[in-house]
Amino acid sequence: MDFSPTGWGRAILWTALGAFGCAAVTLFIDSFNFHNLGPDALRWSIMLDVLVPLGLAGPILFFLLGKLRELAIAHELLRRHAATDTLTDLLNRGAFTREVEEALADARFAEDGMRGTLLVVDADNFKAINDTYGHEQGDAALRLIASSIRGVLRSADLIGRIGGEEFAVYLPGTTLLIAEAVAERLRQAVYGAEFAPEGKPHQLTVSVGGAVYDRHLPFTELFRLADQQLYAAKQNGRNRIAVASISHYETLPAAAA
Ligand code: GH3
Ligand code: MG
Ligand code: MG
Repeated sequence: MDFSPTGWGRAILWTALGAFGCAAVTLFIDSFNFHNLGPDALRWSIMLDVLVPLGLAGPILFFLLGKLRELAIAHELLRRHAATDTLTDLLNRGAFTREVEEALADARFAEDGMRGTLLVVDADNFKAINDTYGHEQGDAALRLIASSIRGVLRSADLIGRIGGEEFAVYLPGTTLLIAEAVAERLRQAVYGAEFAPEGKPHQLTVSVGGAVYDRHLPFTELFRLADQQLYAAKQNGRNRIAVASISHYETLPAAAA
């Protein structure tokens, strides 16, 4: 049975506990009068002390706890809605940032968890899709890119849409080698996705920038480094990946400052 705030188990359990609790209290208070009663009246009194609270408190508690359950379901739906990008069903920017920040903070205390990768994925020449086929086809392309990226990730990875035609992926526990392999698989998945607006095949591509960390780094810094790599991938011709380890930056003057 589901004992979470959204499950019936909790409502039923607390209704039963509450109703029997009321009966127990009534019985206890009335017990001070029991010595004045004869056997028949005592039996009658005990029966009423149990049944009346159960009959009154049971339905009332069940109704109220059912309402609390509805409230918990509405709260959960709102929470999920607030974290979701409605076009692609991925995490939105705020939720993605929050979840990665939490993962980075948790990893800080883990013995061997202090490594991972942030990838930033940007659709190439996306403006041309909107300009040529219209905004709705552009939206369809974004959904296709989102599902292609999601298709190559593990369940522990996080993916969000962090801007118009920009996505981000967090790969916990990855080394540079694995991060490059995932980024490449992801690039190929989008490249292999069939997009044919108005029956005309259109090649979708993405550029991917990545930063691999092996010690604690704030999210903003990690994002900045991944974005730098994305810029390099764009500069080098698009439809390519550029992933670097943060130790790579420590030799650069900007990182040393
Ligand atoms: P680059 O390869 O340099 O990234 O070129 P680009 O055309 O992809 O980049 P640019 O920033 O010039 O254009 C991004 C376009 O993405 C512009 C905007 O119309 C489009 N876009 C952003 N958000 C959405 C959206 O939600 N739906 C649609 N259909 N288009 C969007
Ligand atoms: Mg773009
Ligand atoms: Mg962009």
